[in-house]
Amino acid sequence: MTALLLRPEGAPAPKLPTLPQVPGDTLWSALGPETLGAPALEIAFPSFKDGRGFTLARELRDRLGYRGWLRASGDLLPDQATHLRDVGFDDVLVSEDHTLPAWERAAQRFKRRLQRIAAEPSPRAVAPLGDSVQALNDHFAALSTEALFEESLRRRWPGAIAVLSSFGAEAAVTLHLAAQVDRFTPVLFLDTGKLFPETLAYQRALVQRLGLGNVRVIKPAPAALAAVDPQGDLWTRDCNACCALRKVEPLTPEAEAFSVLITGRKRVHGDDRERLPILERQGTQLRLNPLAAWSEAEVEAYFERFDLPRHPLWAQGYRSLGCAPCTAPAGAAGPRSGRWAGQGKTECGIHRPQVVTVR
Ligand code: SF4
Repeated sequence: MTALLLRPEGAPAPKLPTLPQVPGDTLWSALGPETLGAPALEIAFPSFKDGRGFTLARELRDRLGYRGWLRASGDLLPDQATHLRDVGFDDVLVSEDHTLPAWERAAQRFKRRLQRIAAEPSPRAVAPLGDSVQALNDHFAALSTEALFEESLRRRWPGAIAVLSSFGAEAAVTLHLAAQVDRFTPVLFLDTGKLFPETLAYQRALVQRLGLGNVRVIKPAPAALAAVDPQGDLWTRDCNACCALRKVEPLTPEAEAFSVLITGRKRVHGDDRERLPILERQGTQLRLNPLAAWSEAEVEAYFERFDLPRHPLWAQGYRSLGCAPCTAPAGAAGPRSGRWAGQGKTECGIHRPQVVTVR
């Protein structure tokens, strides 16, 4: 067996003969202080079809704040390397058999990408390092939103930027702003298979109304659905695993083609979004949130000014729209209070700022 680095830019691996092993199907809530205090952990995947090891790693990193070394082992595929890295693994233990070259190519991909970003600054090689993200934030904050879109799409990151859209309650604003600059801006739309039929109808209508010419509909792989969620009811048992299967995993390879993704997130959405910057780093990518500082009134005014169509469920009190099983009309607690209501979950996992620092 050999351990392949998934983060060549990170800290060196701890020198330990063996790492404490945690089965991939362990619930994060079952991890005790001894495990969480270990300098390194190995999460063992029983099967490449079993996504619970990914969920466990993400919970360790995001919920429990684990900062030690994380190794993946067990039944995994080279195609899963990107996702392993994205959920927080540092390396992966692989057999020295015929799959080794494919794993090495996957690991090299990360290395090349990081080197390109560091060594060849260009409009595409975004990643302004260190405090230049802050400098760009200050710069963008002084622009009108229209000017921000113009600069981002035309001059700063042409060809390397896409809009990530749910075609939800407020999506028309971001899409309209992008379309005013270039209606062929790539738009990534996740069709999880669990969306409201009204969302799918709205998506078709908005594409036509705005003349969007480059919408990429991303769906979970049928084989992954058949293997992990054959009954389509995973959301009733493990929403994090379901979101990983239906959102994070399908989006990851598509999003990798871009250096910057535009989102429609706003501070008024509350929870983790209250301090949302206009520009933030997520892994080796940037997330651009041009509407971060917009109020609900400004969104409303924009809809009226350009006579944009509303999502069909808006009139029924839905202020934020995701998958049908996990979305209810908004309550008094805020526009996103109908999302995973009562489950203590506020994000699906596709927005995870500051996962890794690139130097
Ligand atoms: S929002 Fe609900 S149904 Fe949609 S992917 Fe997440 S858990 Fe599954």
